[in-house]
Amino acid sequence: MHKLPFVIVKRFLLLSLFVLSLFLAISYFWIKDSYIKEAKKSLMDDVNLISINVENIQDFQKFADRIKQSIDARVTIIDKDGRVLADSDADYTRMENHLNRDEILEAGLKGTGSSVRRSKTLNKDLIYVAKKIKLKERVFYIRVADDLDYINELFLSFLFKMSAILVVFISAFMFLVYKTSQDISGETKKILRFLEDLKHQTKPFKIHSDFSKEFNDITKLLSEVSFELADKNRKKAKYTARLKLANKQKDEIISAISHEFKNPISVIKGYSQTILEDEHINEKIKLKFLQKVHDSANRLTNMIDRLRLAVKLEGENFVLDKNDVDLCKVAQIIKQDILQTYPIRGINIICNENAVVKADETLLMIAIKNLVENGLKYSEDDVDLEIYHDKIVIKDRGIGIKEDEVENITQKFYRVSKNRWNNSLGLGLAIVANILKFHDFKLDIKSSYGEGSEFTIVF
Ligand code: ADP
Repeated sequence: MHKLPFVIVKRFLLLSLFVLSLFLAISYFWIKDSYIKEAKKSLMDDVNLISINVENIQDFQKFADRIKQSIDARVTIIDKDGRVLADSDADYTRMENHLNRDEILEAGLKGTGSSVRRSKTLNKDLIYVAKKIKLKERVFYIRVADDLDYINELFLSFLFKMSAILVVFISAFMFLVYKTSQDISGETKKILRFLEDLKHQTKPFKIHSDFSKEFNDITKLLSEVSFELADKNRKKAKYTARLKLANKQKDEIISAISHEFKNPISVIKGYSQTILEDEHINEKIKLKFLQKVHDSANRLTNMIDRLRLAVKLEGENFVLDKNDVDLCKVAQIIKQDILQTYPIRGINIICNENAVVKADETLLMIAIKNLVENGLKYSEDDVDLEIYHDKIVIKDRGIGIKEDEVENITQKFYRVSKNRWNNSLGLGLAIVANILKFHDFKLDIKSSYGEGSEFTIVF
């Protein structure tokens, strides 16, 4: 049995014992009192009846015995001085003077008297009723008595019945408490299991109890807690993953930037040191070295410009300078520009339609140039630049991009690890994507790994 119901049972038993004792005590006195009243009344009737028939008494003892037989009560006849003249239940000759008995004293004063006390003669509790009568000018007392044992018997039977009821009642109560304690224990275990699971939960789960309003409220609240916890855990996991990715990206960015900057810097350092240290350096070689220093410085400037542009395009209040842009004309300018860096490569401009679009010319040129340059970087063949009124398609027949890489390549600093092109920061496509986003243009990428790629700007 559990602690809680045990305490309840203990208290209940003590309380019921107290209430029962009180009840029995009151009942006992009440039963006794009402019986005595009833018995007195009936004995009084008897004694009145006897006193009517008393006229012809010859032998007091016979008279007492006869009356005893008819009313089944002790009958005593006492003379005015208290001497006992006859007694139906005892030897009257041995009985002491009765003048000082309460009922006789009262009957002497009032005509009738009664009292309840233990009889020394019979050694039991009796109820006495006495009446003063005059017989042939002599005063007598006729006394009838009944014993009180009946009350005790009555009370014992009452006690027995009460005890039986109490036993049944307590047993029923104990059974109820036991059942309730089992139910409470079941519900509590359910909640404990739920809390245990809650510690390791990954998904939200529910608990429900209809046992009582309190259990219902508790389980409702616990279900809510589980949902909130799951939600917080989900957010935390997301945040941690994002933080991890951001850290990884930051490391990659720093290593990419330092790696790409290292190359031109070491070129500048190496050639300038040779020029400085070798006093007799050939003028032609010196010029060649200076050119290399200049090219590397340009590459550095170019990279820094890209970085700055990428950061600038990330800003929210970037303002476009929009004008009508003739795409065929712009394509020609881009081609001339790129061929200076890639003099032996081919760019095929296919100007299908006379296409004019509203855009920031400088930015659009940067975007197209990036895509064409990528085409040249990642292929050995010509790059096609097809112009339509609603789109520009840049097509190459190069290494292509794997399907799972396609969605990542427009992210800032993302580079397909195998093709690390010199001075590549993984910024080109991120810049393109941002420029097109500002214009509300779309970038479509189709690529077959090992066959080539097609980048389409949709206006
Ligand atoms: P980067 O400026 O370093 O070239 P980009 O953002 O332009 O970076 O490109 C990101 C990645 O996408 C590159 O590392 C490259 O592997 C891949 N990529 C871009 N264009 C092409 C292309 N035309 N063909 C194959 N791979 C390409």
